[in-house]
Amino acid sequence: MPRVIAALALLPFAGAAAAQDSSDETVTSMYLESIRWDTPALVAFLREMPKGADLHSHLSGAVYAESFLRWAAEDGACVSRVELRIIPGPCASGADTVAAAVALADGVLYSALVDGLSMRNWNAARVNGHDQFFATFGRMYSTRRRTGDMLAEAARRAAAGNVSYLELMLTPDGGAARSLGDRAGWLGDFARMRDTLLALGLDRVVALSRARIDSVEARRDTVLACGTAAADPGCAVTVRWLYQVARATPPQQIFAQILTGFVLSRDDPRVVGLNLVQPEDALIAMRDYSLHMRMIGALRPLYQSVRVSLHAGELASGLVPPEGLRFHVREAVEIAGASRIGHGVSVMHEDRPYELLAEMARRGVLVEINLTSNDVILGVKGRDHPLRAYLTAGVPVALSTDDEGVARSEMTMEYVRAAQQQLLRYPDLKAMARASLRHAFADEATKTRLTRELEAAFSRFESRIAQRAR
Ligand SMILES: [Zn+2]
Repeated sequence: MPRVIAALALLPFAGAAAAQDSSDETVTSMYLESIRWDTPALVAFLREMPKGADLHSHLSGAVYAESFLRWAAEDGACVSRVELRIIPGPCASGADTVAAAVALADGVLYSALVDGLSMRNWNAARVNGHDQFFATFGRMYSTRRRTGDMLAEAARRAAAGNVSYLELMLTPDGGAARSLGDRAGWLGDFARMRDTLLALGLDRVVALSRARIDSVEARRDTVLACGTAAADPGCAVTVRWLYQVARATPPQQIFAQILTGFVLSRDDPRVVGLNLVQPEDALIAMRDYSLHMRMIGALRPLYQSVRVSLHAGELASGLVPPEGLRFHVREAVEIAGASRIGHGVSVMHEDRPYELLAEMARRGVLVEINLTSNDVILGVKGRDHPLRAYLTAGVPVALSTDDEGVARSEMTMEYVRAAQQQLLRYPDLKAMARASLRHAFADEATKTRLTRELEAAFSRFESRIAQRAR
């Protein structure tokens, strides 16, 4: 008996209806039910499924350790055997530091470095997931000349997983906004801060950022041979940027970064908004959270074309004092005016959570759901995750990867978790893929094109699945 027919028998009420309604979509839905616990088949099915956008992806975290190590070797950089990190060249002589090229020829060291730069073989007895995860960012190969290679890797992988749009978080100014903030100092008044930063030459930071994005995208085109007969499928992935603000920094630096994010997004159509990053539970991020929300809320009316997505509620019981769990998502929505929330894991710890959910549904605030990341960083998965609460309340949701390289994941595996740990059905998954494009920050014409392509891709996909299943 074909598996899809067997699945019908497992569904007490759906069976008769589905037998009559044998549209490709229904058969595809039944097929997923038949393979839900057959993980290899589920992986193949979900990889082939069109997924729309990945709205929450930090470019540095999207890159696999193997790539960083290869580039470090090609560029003459070094690695630390003890700290398991990449260090810019030239290599200092010492027993600890060796050329990255040497590490590529030493299987044991290479393997240890890949582990140190990611969550692979992560040992929970030695270091908790949160600390291991965030520590990897300080160990990576951070060099400007490879940012385009990083984009190429993310785009290539997106195409291979049937993701058609990426909104990537990046800090393109190389720290210039933070330096400018220090020159201004913290004045305690948002209007004066803005005037001072503009007078000090914030436009130069914006120009620098735009030039950097030019070079990053040009390098992507070279690496993927875009515009040639041999173009990689990654060239067809539409990319937009979110300016990434480091939230665990002093107020003058944060304000300067937020302002840079607004001006850059207003002036450059490739940059569609901003987001606050770094651990939400860090000392400054917790202490100044409300201040940061007020900064964004004060600047947003001056830059009305700019959209804001915020990491909020990337917290769990015990990670911070209970009082810290009560207001982050609400303030991100109500004070900062965020159009999207990243994570939102602690939402049910907030004051009046059901009112908050209703408000998010009413405002159409989408939550970027990062199942793998929430599991490895926060230890939250399965029934501990609030995805079901969002769905029940009608809050738009979409799956995203957060840091697929660090987490050793990819978009397909987020869908696998959604199917097996959250028990979502095919219509739920399809709705999330559609929502991801609807809530993207790209211009309407781009979104209309991507949505049309997504619907066509769904028709082709369901037709193929139905043919195989029938
Ligand atoms: Zn994130």
